[in-house]
Amino acid sequence: MMKYIDALVNGFLGMVQWTWRSIIFDVPWYTNYFWGLILISLLVWGLEILFPWRKEQSIFRKDFWLDIFYMFFNFFVFAIIINGVYKVLTILFNDFGITSKSLAIVDIANWPQWVQLLVFFVVLDFVQWFTHILLHRVPAFWEFHKVHHSVKEMGFAAHMRFHWMENVLYKPLKTLGLMVLGGFEPEQAYIVHFAAIAIGHFNHSNIKLTYGPLKYILNNPVMHLYHHAYNLPEGHRYGMNFGISLSLWDYIFRTNYIPESDGKIELGFPGDEKLPKRFWGQSVSGFRKKDKG
Ligand SMILES: [Zn+2]
Ligand SMILES: [Zn+2]
Repeated sequence: MMKYIDALVNGFLGMVQWTWRSIIFDVPWYTNYFWGLILISLLVWGLEILFPWRKEQSIFRKDFWLDIFYMFFNFFVFAIIINGVYKVLTILFNDFGITSKSLAIVDIANWPQWVQLLVFFVVLDFVQWFTHILLHRVPAFWEFHKVHHSVKEMGFAAHMRFHWMENVLYKPLKTLGLMVLGGFEPEQAYIVHFAAIAIGHFNHSNIKLTYGPLKYILNNPVMHLYHHAYNLPEGHRYGMNFGISLSLWDYIFRTNYIPESDGKIELGFPGDEKLPKRFWGQSVSGFRKKDKG
């Protein structure tokens, strides 16, 4: 029993310490997600201000500060809270003979570094695309995903407005994906993580970007805006454009839909006015029966 309590406490304290050391620049710069996130945010926000797509949208759009709060909560506060729990689960699974290496079907350790990174990126993106579809299709999951779809005006920080339960729901398939790849992250996985943050920020930004022919591979702000459309078109009852970093999966599985538009569609979902407006209200929403409907 003691080892579980130790893991819980050490996991928690270790993450507190790591976050603090990031804030005071006491970690290698390429692993500093605290300042990295701030830097990417300022960069994308600056581009939104310089090249706005919806020109009438304010620089401090609706719920700007709510989303900034979400950004720090989901990235750092929740990570601190949950880290100990994940450490306990790791030990528990180990006790049952399941380790991160149990499922390894390929040994990517001997592949060139850039191939490792690419495969890591593509596999992780695919399992997240699939999880995202489940968030839309499984009614109990949608109750949590509603928070992300409550955005009424789109800007970079909306990327990180999501219910903390999403962190939990994305975890199993991400872990499974990692296990299949040998149970470890490539040495330079931070490149993939930073790229994913930047792409996600751009996807939610008020900038009309499609990356030209690369739009069939990379998700982009135009494609993702329609993911947030209030009115769903015929034939896309559960939504469309589920891509996270890559748009590829939506084109392969025909879940893509981008009507020609000026970006001025209504965002949200039918009934979004009933969702609590503030952080704590939203954080406890989605659990009870009476929330549903
Ligand atoms: Zn969604
Ligand atoms: Zn989104």
